[in-house]
Amino acid sequence: MEDELRNIAKVFLERPDAECFIGYETSPDGSIRPVFIRSPGEVDRLVWNRECFTNLAAYLPNFREKEGIVGIAVKGCDARSLRELIRSRQVDRSKVYIVGLPCTDKGLRADEGDGIAERCFGCVFPENFEYDAVLGPMETPGLPPRSEDDMLSGLLSEERFAFWEKEIEKCISCDACRKICYGCFCPECIFESRQPRWVTNRRSLAEKFFFHSVRAFHLVGRCIECGECERACPAGVRLMLLNRQLQNDIENLFGCKGIGVTEEPPPLLTFSKDDPDPFSGGHE
Ligand code: SF4
Ligand code: SF4
Ligand code: SF4
Repeated sequence: MEDELRNIAKVFLERPDAECFIGYETSPDGSIRPVFIRSPGEVDRLVWNRECFTNLAAYLPNFREKEGIVGIAVKGCDARSLRELIRSRQVDRSKVYIVGLPCTDKGLRADEGDGIAERCFGCVFPENFEYDAVLGPMETPGLPPRSEDDMLSGLLSEERFAFWEKEIEKCISCDACRKICYGCFCPECIFESRQPRWVTNRRSLAEKFFFHSVRAFHLVGRCIECGECERACPAGVRLMLLNRQLQNDIENLFGCKGIGVTEEPPPLLTFSKDDPDPFSGGHE
């Protein structure tokens, strides 16, 4: 399958309008990292295996101003984020060449051993997604559903607060969770603003709470639950518990199928004159 990927990337990079091809390579320490291939002679660096965790679609908004076409290898879950990036006009579909990477029924590798990565349980591929090339049928692999156990659901609100206080206290304010997320693409981020300055560099616990509340609410209705933020966190903050809670609320409230799965826009990015909530401009 890697040979096929390399051939597809080579043919793409021979095009005069090709800017680069974004894929995965093996780093000197043996781990898998993103790679930006710019010439057909370099395609042998490309790999595809169960350790290709990074969502490469997160790099695409950086190419917005480029003239050329960017080739990119995407897994099914990454394709969901790519659909959202196209829909929110961060990526011009005519300026990307999308190569679909099919997953096996083992998904990505868990952190330890040969098990399935947590994010892959309950995996759903996007419907009718328009790939330019695929390495095989892009169908949802038959992975077991995610456990519905929510360790926080039985807790009183004070107990939940105590849980989150402990989690958020661990945060070292490195911003890796924000930088790795495909959905954090605002050219001017509130956390980088100096005028007004919302958070200081040495964040207090209150500022960390502010950071995490804003981050989570900015992504609600767009988070594809790829787990990249939690994977990037050097302090082990349980960010996916927060992301999933908000995502479940959105799906239960609006009955949506999953962000980026269908052509339907995310519920918080749409508007209906029939909305029963008068605030949304529906009924008088
Ligand atoms: S969530 Fe699905 S598409 Fe994404 S890596 Fe896991 S198995 Fe593949
Ligand atoms: S799981 Fe994290 S990194 Fe992935 S889309 Fe959601 S907030 Fe962003
Ligand atoms: S990656 Fe972890 S430590 Fe860094 S800001 Fe995010 S939650 Fe805090």
